[in-house]
Amino acid sequence: MGTPEATAGRPASGTPTRTSGGAVLLDGKAVAARVRAEVAARAAAFAQARGRRPGLAVVQVGNDAASSVYVRNKRRASHEAGIESFAHDLPASTSEAHLLELVGTLNGDPRVDGILVQLPLPRGVDANRVMDAVDPAKDVDGFHPVNTGLLAQKRPRLRPCTPFGVIRLAQEYGITLTGQRATVVGASNIVGRPMALELLLARATVTVCHTGTRDLRAEVERADVVVAAVGQPDFIPGTWIKPGAAVFDVGINRSADGRLVGDVAFESAAQRAGWITPVPGGLGPMTIAMLLSNAVDAACQRAGI
Ligand code: NDP
Repeated sequence: MGTPEATAGRPASGTPTRTSGGAVLLDGKAVAARVRAEVAARAAAFAQARGRRPGLAVVQVGNDAASSVYVRNKRRASHEAGIESFAHDLPASTSEAHLLELVGTLNGDPRVDGILVQLPLPRGVDANRVMDAVDPAKDVDGFHPVNTGLLAQKRPRLRPCTPFGVIRLAQEYGITLTGQRATVVGASNIVGRPMALELLLARATVTVCHTGTRDLRAEVERADVVVAAVGQPDFIPGTWIKPGAAVFDVGINRSADGRLVGDVAFESAAQRAGWITPVPGGLGPMTIAMLLSNAVDAACQRAGI
Protein backbone atom coordinates (compact mmCIF):
# COMPACT_ATOMS: atom_id res chain seq x y z
CA MET A 1 0.00 0.00 0.00
CA GLY A 2 1.26 3.54 -0.64
CA THR A 3 2.14 5.30 2.58
CA PRO A 4 0.39 8.44 3.84
CA GLU A 5 3.74 10.23 3.34
CA ALA A 6 3.95 9.05 -0.28
CA THR A 7 0.67 10.71 -1.11
CA ALA A 8 1.74 14.15 0.07
CA GLY A 9 1.96 15.53 -3.48
CA ARG A 10 -1.21 13.88 -4.76
CA PRO A 11 -4.26 14.86 -2.76
CA ALA A 12 -6.99 16.98 -4.21
CA SER A 13 -6.21 20.09 -2.22
CA GLY A 14 -2.42 20.36 -2.13
CA THR A 15 -0.93 19.38 1.21
CA PRO A 16 -3.04 16.69 2.84
CA THR A 17 -4.92 17.52 6.00
CA ARG A 18 -4.11 15.18 8.85
CA THR A 19 -6.10 14.28 11.90
CA SER A 20 -4.54 14.79 15.33
CA GLY A 21 -3.65 11.10 15.23
CA GLY A 22 -1.68 11.59 12.00
CA ALA A 23 -4.09 9.93 9.56
CA VAL A 24 -4.53 11.62 6.20
CA LEU A 25 -8.07 12.96 5.94
CA LEU A 26 -9.58 11.80 2.64
CA ASP A 27 -11.23 14.99 1.48
CA GLY A 28 -14.25 13.78 -0.48
CA LYS A 29 -15.53 17.31 -0.95
CA ALA A 30 -12.37 18.46 -2.70
CA VAL A 31 -12.03 15.36 -4.88
CA ALA A 32 -15.73 15.54 -5.75
CA ALA A 33 -15.24 19.16 -6.87
CA ARG A 34 -12.47 17.97 -9.18
CA VAL A 35 -14.65 15.17 -10.59
CA ARG A 36 -17.52 17.61 -11.12
CA ALA A 37 -15.25 20.00 -13.01
CA GLU A 38 -14.22 17.11 -15.29
CA VAL A 39 -17.87 16.19 -15.76
CA ALA A 40 -18.76 19.79 -16.64
CA ALA A 41 -16.04 19.87 -19.31
CA ARG A 42 -17.22 16.55 -20.76
CA ALA A 43 -20.87 17.66 -20.66
CA ALA A 44 -19.96 20.84 -22.54
CA ALA A 45 -18.06 18.84 -25.18
CA PHE A 46 -21.06 16.51 -25.54
CA ALA A 47 -23.42 19.46 -25.95
CA GLN A 48 -21.22 20.94 -28.63
CA ALA A 49 -20.98 17.65 -30.51
CA ARG A 50 -24.65 16.66 -30.21
CA GLY A 51 -26.51 19.96 -30.03
CA ARG A 52 -28.10 19.08 -26.69
CA ARG A 53 -26.95 18.67 -23.11
CA PRO A 54 -26.76 15.24 -21.46
CA GLY A 55 -30.10 14.61 -19.75
CA LEU A 56 -30.77 13.10 -16.32
CA ALA A 57 -34.29 12.25 -15.12
CA VAL A 58 -34.62 12.20 -11.34
CA VAL A 59 -37.78 10.53 -10.06
CA GLN A 60 -38.94 10.95 -6.49
CA VAL A 61 -42.04 9.25 -5.13
CA GLY A 62 -43.45 10.70 -1.90
CA ASN A 63 -41.74 13.31 0.24
CA ASP A 64 -39.41 11.45 2.57
CA ALA A 65 -37.34 14.25 4.14
CA ALA A 66 -33.89 12.68 3.61
CA SER A 67 -34.76 11.72 0.01
CA SER A 68 -35.91 15.27 -0.71
CA VAL A 69 -32.51 16.62 0.42
CA TYR A 70 -30.63 14.06 -1.73
CA VAL A 71 -32.84 14.73 -4.76
CA ARG A 72 -32.46 18.51 -4.41
CA ASN A 73 -28.67 18.16 -4.17
CA LYS A 74 -28.54 15.87 -7.19
CA ARG A 75 -30.64 18.22 -9.30
CA ARG A 76 -28.59 21.25 -8.32
CA ALA A 77 -25.31 19.42 -8.97
CA SER A 78 -26.61 18.29 -12.40
CA HIS A 79 -27.51 21.82 -13.33
CA GLU A 80 -24.11 23.14 -12.23
CA ALA A 81 -22.36 20.49 -14.33
CA GLY A 82 -24.30 21.41 -17.48
CA ILE A 83 -26.55 18.36 -17.36
CA GLU A 84 -30.22 18.89 -18.11
CA SER A 85 -32.32 17.67 -15.21
CA PHE A 86 -35.84 16.33 -15.76
CA ALA A 87 -37.78 16.37 -12.48
CA HIS A 88 -40.56 13.87 -11.81
CA ASP A 89 -42.04 14.33 -8.35
CA LEU A 90 -44.88 11.91 -7.75
CA PRO A 91 -47.20 11.59 -4.76
CA ALA A 92 -46.64 8.78 -2.23
CA SER A 93 -49.90 7.23 -3.45
CA THR A 94 -48.40 6.55 -6.91
CA SER A 95 -49.06 2.97 -7.99
CA GLU A 96 -46.35 0.61 -9.16
CA ALA A 97 -48.06 0.41 -12.56
CA HIS A 98 -47.92 4.18 -12.96
CA LEU A 99 -44.27 4.28 -11.95
CA LEU A 100 -43.43 1.49 -14.41
CA GLU A 101 -45.22 3.43 -17.12
CA LEU A 102 -43.15 6.54 -16.34
CA VAL A 103 -39.92 4.51 -16.42
CA GLY A 104 -41.01 3.11 -19.80
CA THR A 105 -41.60 6.63 -21.12
CA LEU A 106 -38.20 7.81 -19.87
CA ASN A 107 -36.52 4.74 -21.39
CA GLY A 108 -37.92 5.82 -24.76
CA ASP A 109 -37.17 9.54 -24.43
CA PRO A 110 -34.09 10.39 -26.53
CA ARG A 111 -33.35 13.49 -24.41
CA VAL A 112 -32.98 11.35 -21.31
CA ASP A 113 -29.57 9.65 -20.98
CA GLY A 114 -29.84 8.69 -17.34
CA ILE A 115 -32.72 7.66 -15.07
CA LEU A 116 -32.48 7.82 -11.32
CA VAL A 117 -35.32 6.56 -9.16
CA GLN A 118 -34.68 7.77 -5.62
CA LEU A 119 -34.94 5.04 -2.99
CA PRO A 120 -36.68 4.15 -0.76
CA LEU A 121 -39.95 3.76 -2.64
CA PRO A 122 -43.25 3.76 -0.75
CA ARG A 123 -44.68 0.57 0.63
CA GLY A 124 -46.62 -1.36 -1.96
CA VAL A 125 -44.17 -0.55 -4.75
CA ASP A 126 -41.70 -3.33 -5.55
CA ALA A 127 -38.39 -1.46 -5.84
CA ASN A 128 -36.70 -4.39 -7.60
CA ARG A 129 -39.37 -4.46 -10.28
CA VAL A 130 -38.99 -0.72 -10.84
CA MET A 131 -35.19 -0.79 -10.94
CA ASP A 132 -35.23 -3.79 -13.28
CA ALA A 133 -37.47 -1.82 -15.65
CA VAL A 134 -34.86 0.93 -16.15
CA ASP A 135 -32.99 0.56 -19.43
CA PRO A 136 -29.51 -0.69 -18.35
CA ALA A 137 -27.97 1.85 -20.76
CA LYS A 138 -29.64 4.63 -18.71
CA ASP A 139 -29.05 3.08 -15.28
CA VAL A 140 -26.85 5.83 -13.83
CA ASP A 141 -27.14 4.37 -10.32
CA GLY A 142 -25.54 1.17 -11.61
CA PHE A 143 -28.11 -0.93 -9.72
CA HIS A 144 -29.55 -2.87 -12.66
CA PRO A 145 -28.67 -6.58 -12.64
CA VAL A 146 -27.10 -6.16 -16.08
CA ASN A 147 -24.68 -3.52 -14.80
CA THR A 148 -23.97 -5.46 -11.60
CA GLY A 149 -23.34 -8.54 -13.74
CA LEU A 150 -20.98 -6.66 -16.04
CA LEU A 151 -19.04 -5.42 -13.00
CA ALA A 152 -18.90 -8.98 -11.67
CA GLN A 153 -17.51 -10.09 -15.02
CA LYS A 154 -14.68 -7.52 -14.97
CA ARG A 155 -16.21 -5.38 -17.74
CA PRO A 156 -17.86 -2.52 -15.87
CA ARG A 157 -20.13 -0.15 -17.77
CA LEU A 158 -22.22 2.02 -15.45
CA ARG A 159 -20.79 1.51 -11.95
CA PRO A 160 -22.64 1.94 -8.64
CA CYS A 161 -21.86 5.47 -7.48
CA THR A 162 -20.77 5.03 -3.85
CA PRO A 163 -18.38 2.10 -4.45
CA PHE A 164 -17.04 3.82 -7.56
CA GLY A 165 -16.52 6.91 -5.37
CA VAL A 166 -14.41 4.87 -2.93
CA ILE A 167 -12.21 3.67 -5.80
CA ARG A 168 -11.78 7.17 -7.20
CA LEU A 169 -10.93 8.59 -3.77
CA ALA A 170 -8.31 5.86 -3.26
CA GLN A 171 -6.82 6.63 -6.68
CA GLU A 172 -6.66 10.36 -5.98
CA TYR A 173 -4.68 9.77 -2.81
CA GLY A 174 -2.41 7.13 -4.29
CA ILE A 175 -3.75 4.39 -2.03
CA THR A 176 -2.77 1.04 -3.51
CA LEU A 177 -5.57 -1.51 -3.49
CA THR A 178 -3.90 -4.31 -5.45
CA GLY A 179 -2.73 -7.07 -3.17
CA GLN A 180 -4.24 -5.50 -0.06
CA ARG A 181 -6.57 -7.26 2.35
CA ALA A 182 -9.85 -5.41 2.08
CA THR A 183 -12.78 -5.94 4.43
CA VAL A 184 -16.21 -4.62 3.49
CA VAL A 185 -18.63 -4.45 6.41
CA GLY A 186 -22.14 -4.54 4.95
CA ALA A 187 -23.41 -6.60 2.04
CA SER A 188 -26.33 -4.64 0.60
CA ASN A 189 -27.08 -4.60 -3.12
CA ILE A 190 -26.37 -0.89 -3.40
CA VAL A 191 -23.17 -0.56 -1.38
CA GLY A 192 -21.54 -3.64 0.18
CA ARG A 193 -21.83 -6.15 -2.66
CA PRO A 194 -20.82 -3.85 -5.53
CA MET A 195 -18.04 -2.50 -3.28
CA ALA A 196 -16.65 -6.01 -2.98
CA LEU A 197 -16.78 -6.36 -6.78
CA GLU A 198 -15.00 -3.03 -7.26
CA LEU A 199 -12.25 -4.02 -4.81
CA LEU A 200 -11.91 -7.37 -6.55
CA LEU A 201 -11.61 -5.56 -9.87
CA ALA A 202 -8.84 -3.50 -8.27
CA ARG A 203 -7.18 -6.82 -7.34
CA ALA A 204 -7.56 -6.59 -3.58
CA THR A 205 -8.20 -9.74 -1.55
CA VAL A 206 -11.74 -9.15 -0.39
CA THR A 207 -13.78 -10.24 2.63
CA VAL A 208 -17.44 -9.23 2.91
CA CYS A 209 -19.08 -9.12 6.36
CA HIS A 210 -22.76 -9.11 7.31
CA THR A 211 -24.96 -10.21 10.19
CA GLY A 212 -23.92 -13.82 9.60
CA THR A 213 -20.21 -13.06 10.08
CA ARG A 214 -18.83 -15.00 13.04
CA ASP A 215 -15.92 -12.81 14.18
CA LEU A 216 -16.33 -9.33 12.73
CA ARG A 217 -13.61 -7.87 14.88
CA ALA A 218 -10.99 -10.29 13.55
CA GLU A 219 -12.04 -9.54 9.95
CA VAL A 220 -11.64 -5.80 10.50
CA GLU A 221 -8.43 -6.10 12.50
CA ARG A 222 -6.51 -7.77 9.69
CA ALA A 223 -7.74 -5.43 6.96
CA ASP A 224 -5.41 -3.01 5.16
CA VAL A 225 -8.53 -1.41 3.67
CA VAL A 226 -11.83 -1.14 5.54
CA VAL A 227 -15.10 -0.05 3.94
CA ALA A 228 -17.93 0.38 6.42
CA ALA A 229 -21.52 0.36 5.10
CA VAL A 230 -23.71 -0.82 7.95
CA GLY A 231 -25.91 2.12 8.89
CA GLN A 232 -25.24 2.18 12.63
CA PRO A 233 -23.53 5.11 14.35
CA ASP A 234 -19.93 4.43 15.45
CA PHE A 235 -20.46 0.70 14.89
CA ILE A 236 -16.78 -0.08 14.31
CA PRO A 237 -14.58 0.90 17.27
CA GLY A 238 -11.30 2.63 16.45
CA THR A 239 -9.38 -0.03 18.36
CA TRP A 240 -10.28 -2.55 15.63
CA ILE A 241 -8.46 -0.58 12.94
CA LYS A 242 -5.09 -1.96 11.88
CA PRO A 243 -2.37 0.70 12.21
CA GLY A 244 -1.89 2.41 8.84
CA ALA A 245 -5.10 1.05 7.29
CA ALA A 246 -7.21 3.04 4.83
CA VAL A 247 -10.71 3.55 6.23
CA PHE A 248 -13.65 4.46 3.99
CA ASP A 249 -16.78 5.19 5.99
CA VAL A 250 -19.92 5.08 3.86
CA GLY A 251 -22.36 5.26 6.78
CA ILE A 252 -24.51 8.35 7.27
CA ASN A 253 -26.26 8.21 10.63
CA ARG A 254 -27.70 10.57 13.24
CA SER A 255 -25.98 10.20 16.61
CA ALA A 256 -27.96 10.39 19.85
CA ASP A 257 -26.99 14.08 20.13
CA GLY A 258 -28.20 14.83 16.60
CA ARG A 259 -24.84 14.98 14.78
CA LEU A 260 -24.20 13.28 11.43
CA VAL A 261 -21.78 10.43 12.06
CA GLY A 262 -20.48 7.44 10.16
CA ASP A 263 -20.29 3.74 10.96
CA VAL A 264 -16.72 4.05 12.28
CA ALA A 265 -15.85 5.74 15.58
CA PHE A 266 -13.91 8.51 13.88
CA GLU A 267 -11.81 10.01 16.68
CA SER A 268 -10.35 6.72 17.88
CA ALA A 269 -10.01 5.24 14.38
CA ALA A 270 -8.11 8.34 13.23
CA GLN A 271 -5.50 7.61 15.92
CA ARG A 272 -4.58 4.39 14.13
CA ALA A 273 -5.57 4.71 10.46
CA GLY A 274 -3.22 5.82 7.69
CA TRP A 275 -6.11 7.43 5.82
CA ILE A 276 -9.70 8.03 6.82
CA THR A 277 -12.82 9.64 5.34
CA PRO A 278 -14.75 12.16 7.41
CA VAL A 279 -18.55 12.03 7.79
CA PRO A 280 -19.88 14.30 6.44
CA GLY A 281 -17.53 15.39 3.65
CA GLY A 282 -16.27 11.97 2.56
CA LEU A 283 -18.28 9.59 0.43
CA GLY A 284 -21.48 11.66 0.37
CA PRO A 285 -20.10 14.27 -2.07
CA MET A 286 -18.21 11.55 -3.97
CA THR A 287 -21.44 9.63 -4.57
CA ILE A 288 -23.10 12.63 -6.22
CA ALA A 289 -20.01 13.37 -8.30
CA MET A 290 -19.86 9.79 -9.58
CA LEU A 291 -23.56 9.93 -10.42
CA LEU A 292 -22.93 12.95 -12.64
CA SER A 293 -19.96 11.20 -14.18
CA ASN A 294 -22.18 8.20 -14.94
CA ALA A 295 -24.78 10.48 -16.54
CA VAL A 296 -22.20 11.85 -18.98
CA ASP A 297 -20.79 8.35 -19.55
CA ALA A 298 -24.31 7.10 -20.35
CA ALA A 299 -24.87 10.01 -22.76
CA CYS A 300 -21.57 9.34 -24.54
CA GLN A 301 -22.11 5.57 -24.66
CA ARG A 302 -25.61 6.02 -26.07
CA ALA A 303 -24.33 8.46 -28.66
CA GLY A 304 -21.48 6.13 -29.60
CA ILE A 305 -18.89 8.73 -28.55
P1 NDP B 1 -28.51 -1.75 4.40
O1 NDP B 1 -29.32 -1.62 5.66
O2 NDP B 1 -29.19 -2.11 3.14
O3 NDP B 1 -27.37 -2.84 4.64
C1 NDP B 1 -26.66 -2.88 5.84
C2 NDP B 1 -25.68 -4.02 5.80
O4 NDP B 1 -25.00 -4.04 7.05
C3 NDP B 1 -26.34 -5.39 5.61
O5 NDP B 1 -25.60 -6.16 4.70
C4 NDP B 1 -26.30 -6.00 6.99
O6 NDP B 1 -26.12 -7.40 7.01
C5 NDP B 1 -25.06 -5.36 7.57
N1 NDP B 1 -25.13 -5.32 9.04
C6 NDP B 1 -26.10 -4.77 9.79
N2 NDP B 1 -25.85 -4.99 11.10
C7 NDP B 1 -24.69 -5.70 11.14
C8 NDP B 1 -23.94 -6.26 12.20
N3 NDP B 1 -24.30 -6.15 13.47
N4 NDP B 1 -22.79 -6.93 11.88
C9 NDP B 1 -22.41 -7.08 10.60
N5 NDP B 1 -23.11 -6.57 9.56
C10 NDP B 1 -24.23 -5.89 9.83
O7 NDP B 1 -27.72 -0.38 4.27
P2 NDP B 1 -27.06 0.33 2.98
O8 NDP B 1 -26.00 -0.54 2.42
O9 NDP B 1 -28.11 0.86 2.10
O10 NDP B 1 -26.39 1.60 3.71
C11 NDP B 1 -25.41 1.47 4.70
C12 NDP B 1 -25.06 2.85 5.21
O11 NDP B 1 -24.50 3.61 4.16
C13 NDP B 1 -26.25 3.67 5.73
O12 NDP B 1 -25.81 4.47 6.81
C14 NDP B 1 -26.60 4.56 4.56
O13 NDP B 1 -27.22 5.76 4.97
C15 NDP B 1 -25.23 4.83 4.01
N6 NDP B 1 -25.20 5.20 2.60
C16 NDP B 1 -24.43 6.27 2.26
C17 NDP B 1 -24.29 6.65 0.96
C18 NDP B 1 -23.43 7.81 0.65
O14 NDP B 1 -23.67 8.49 -0.34
N7 NDP B 1 -22.39 8.08 1.43
C19 NDP B 1 -24.99 5.95 -0.12
C20 NDP B 1 -25.73 4.78 0.33
C21 NDP B 1 -25.82 4.44 1.64
P3 NDP B 1 -27.20 -8.45 6.39
O15 NDP B 1 -26.97 -8.41 4.91
O16 NDP B 1 -26.83 -9.73 7.00
O17 NDP B 1 -28.55 -7.92 6.78
